[in-house]
Amino acid sequence: MDFCATQRRFLNFVLESDSMNLHEYQGKEILASFGVNVQRGIVADSPKKAVEAAQSLTESTGTAWHVIKAQIHAGGRGKGGGVKLAKTLDEVKSIAQEIIGMQLITPQTPPEGKTVHQILIAEDVYYPGESETSEIYMSVLLNRASGKNMIMYSTEGGMDIEAVAEKTPHLIFTEEIDPSLGLQAFQARKIAFNLGLSGFAFKEMTKFVSALYKAYVGSDASLFEINPVLKTSDDKIMAVDAKVTLDDNALFRHKDYAELRDLKEENPVEIEANEAGLNYVDLDGNVGCMVNGAGLAMATMDLIKQSGGDPANFLDVGGTADAARVETAFRLILKDPKVKAILVNIFGGIVRCDRVAQGIVDAYQNMGDAIKVPIIVRLQGTNAEQAKELIDASGLNVLSATAFEEAAQKVQSVL
Ligand code: GDP
Ligand code: MN
Repeated sequence: MDFCATQRRFLNFVLESDSMNLHEYQGKEILASFGVNVQRGIVADSPKKAVEAAQSLTESTGTAWHVIKAQIHAGGRGKGGGVKLAKTLDEVKSIAQEIIGMQLITPQTPPEGKTVHQILIAEDVYYPGESETSEIYMSVLLNRASGKNMIMYSTEGGMDIEAVAEKTPHLIFTEEIDPSLGLQAFQARKIAFNLGLSGFAFKEMTKFVSALYKAYVGSDASLFEINPVLKTSDDKIMAVDAKVTLDDNALFRHKDYAELRDLKEENPVEIEANEAGLNYVDLDGNVGCMVNGAGLAMATMDLIKQSGGDPANFLDVGGTADAARVETAFRLILKDPKVKAILVNIFGGIVRCDRVAQGIVDAYQNMGDAIKVPIIVRLQGTNAEQAKELIDASGLNVLSATAFEEAAQKVQSVL
């Protein structure tokens, strides 16, 4: 399960294209509103506000030390220099100056990184005390195989969970929750027990898990990933980090959450595609891809790899592929200068292949010389043969195929 950034983004596209990611500080606010214990913090967008935030936190918490955390939609910020400890207000100021505006590169950002516009000033909760602090991993997600929610947890928090899964899979536990019963008290106790907790920390953990699960269901989330959940040296349990992904389709029930969307974090082409009712994901390769359906997107990924290429992006046109829609799709795909060829891989079921082929030919002709790269079209399904004939007869710079291998060869021939 060692995902590179490209695969991670692609999987998100396939599995979670109907979702909205939040910043850590927004996720923590939602958790806190459901009674989940979180590391307290205040968001700021300037060094001056950061210092004011630190002062006000010191007044309410009593701690003079603060942690300054870059707010971007990507994990691994600690490794990339986006999480720093400040022991004085001067340090808060200088760290804030350094982090705000920086281009933060982590294993989960695109290669060029992401610009930091906001930072979270949080109380330092790793203070030394009688016993040791420990970092725990916990996530809540839907197990698609069983159709049940599940809590995944591990004593190996703080680090990359994919690495834990690879090296020490026996240290990752899962607890499935029957949706009709909700999380049962015995399950919360089992989790606290498996995490090796006892006494006050054990009790705190059962409360934490129950509140976390209520928050997950109540906010219509599709993913909570809390890494780390901290056991403090005085045995409190709290969320130090929060990756919260909400289900887009449920936002009508949460008008206040809909406003949390940060368009600065989203690729401008993705936003444009969204507005046109298309699904788009930006990747790092050289082949632009137009598909219908997430399953076919997976197969297309294989097809391109087989041809020695790498996807530059994926665009899902969904159920209709008329000329207007295909044209919009071509224009969006071509906004990416990395695109050296476009592969159209469409299965004609309800939408007949010859209709799609006509859409492609019409769109191509409408666009005049806007298309400067070769297009490979693989249409399979209803009326696939007629579709191929239509394209071959058009005289355009479009290569057609019906078989998977043939399409792979044609992509290879133009790269
Ligand atoms: P991520 O790297 O993007 O996952 O960001 P996290 O919020 O998980 O923070 C990364 C790491 O910073 C954590 O695993 C901790 O080791 C450290 N960290 C976070 N909060 C504190 C804090 O309050 N005090 C100290 N000393 N370290 C912290
Ligand atoms: Mn983390």
